[in-house]
Amino acid sequence: MQGRVKTCGTVPIVSGRVALGTVGKGVAIKGLHRCGNRWCLECQSKIASHKATDVEHAMQWAITQGLIPVMYTLTGAHVTTAELDKADGNLHEAVQGVTVETVRKRMSKAWAVTRNGRRGSALKDKRIGMITAQEVTLDDFMFPGSRTGIHWHRHVLVLVKPLRGQSAQQAAHDYGMELFALWQSGCKKVDLKADSQAFDIKVATTLQEAVDLGKYVSKGESTPKETYVDTLHKEMTRADAKHAGKGRVSPEQLLRNIAYLKEHNNSKRMNQLVAQWKDLERGTKGVHWLQWSPGLRDLVGLGEDMTDEEIVHVDMQVDSPSVAVVTWDELKAHVDELRAVVRSAEDGTEWETLLLCLDSYGISYVLQPEHEWGQQVKQRLYSYGTKQR
Ligand SMILES: [Zn+2]
Repeated sequence: MQGRVKTCGTVPIVSGRVALGTVGKGVAIKGLHRCGNRWCLECQSKIASHKATDVEHAMQWAITQGLIPVMYTLTGAHVTTAELDKADGNLHEAVQGVTVETVRKRMSKAWAVTRNGRRGSALKDKRIGMITAQEVTLDDFMFPGSRTGIHWHRHVLVLVKPLRGQSAQQAAHDYGMELFALWQSGCKKVDLKADSQAFDIKVATTLQEAVDLGKYVSKGESTPKETYVDTLHKEMTRADAKHAGKGRVSPEQLLRNIAYLKEHNNSKRMNQLVAQWKDLERGTKGVHWLQWSPGLRDLVGLGEDMTDEEIVHVDMQVDSPSVAVVTWDELKAHVDELRAVVRSAEDGTEWETLLLCLDSYGISYVLQPEHEWGQQVKQRLYSYGTKQR
């Protein structure tokens, strides 16, 4: 993966060529391959903002429909009772050798039991739909301390149908009690203990709170800003920390730590972190981090979900009359300069300026309508067999 991420945005999709256009004072380069990886900084921000917009839309819809958006947080022990017994109750020892893949599979199974079954199906009547986000945190090997292993949890954003005369709080609580009881039995099926301390209910009663809950669920790692979301985040982390002890990292933080160690030539520690990263990568392959329950997107009016790969290849539409198709190898050394010149062009002359620049660099180009270029890119993308439609 690290190789794939590194080449992200540097390889043309259509036989060595890319298309240039202008968007306001900016230059759009269309037709570079994007890795679509969950952990690629550039791709991730695009994927996250796309998903956040969808979830926000759903929250607005829910409020206008008189539904109650509630976020439940479900987690459990990260080792089985049998594993813990074998280590004489010593968690530090018990978590050694438990991989991300193992934890994920156990948690998925517990969640499947929670949803399905007779009682799980009955709970469906109390909601319109739900959006489920999965998150994982790991031991922070940057600091010494006792290890608690891999934490896997789910934030389930449920659109609860209130019963007549029931307050939002009551409806959320009733649903939550039933949900947690099911989660307990789901965990039991895989010999895990559901974590009642980390079980949490957050009800949204206003549009703003609903939007904030949606953001919390869709964004993954938080960015520091003092909002309702961050207060939430703090509470969550505290709930997690209470049970787990300090010293946990998100996958994003782990990547930053690896980069830091590399910079400081600490290869011993770096190898340890890289091994941790590889386990994470292996164990999270194919995970759908954010999932919509069947039919919800249609109800909300959103249509079919796009794959991450599709999302990262949706380019912003240009406002120039056409695009200029050039050879990427000829262009790439000039990209920064080209952007700077177009940015400082007089208003309304951006497109002309861009073409003049190409002439001055001695780069030949072919003008083409934007949608034609888009078609070529799409054809090439899907003929790679990266995705079957
Ligand atoms: Zn990428």
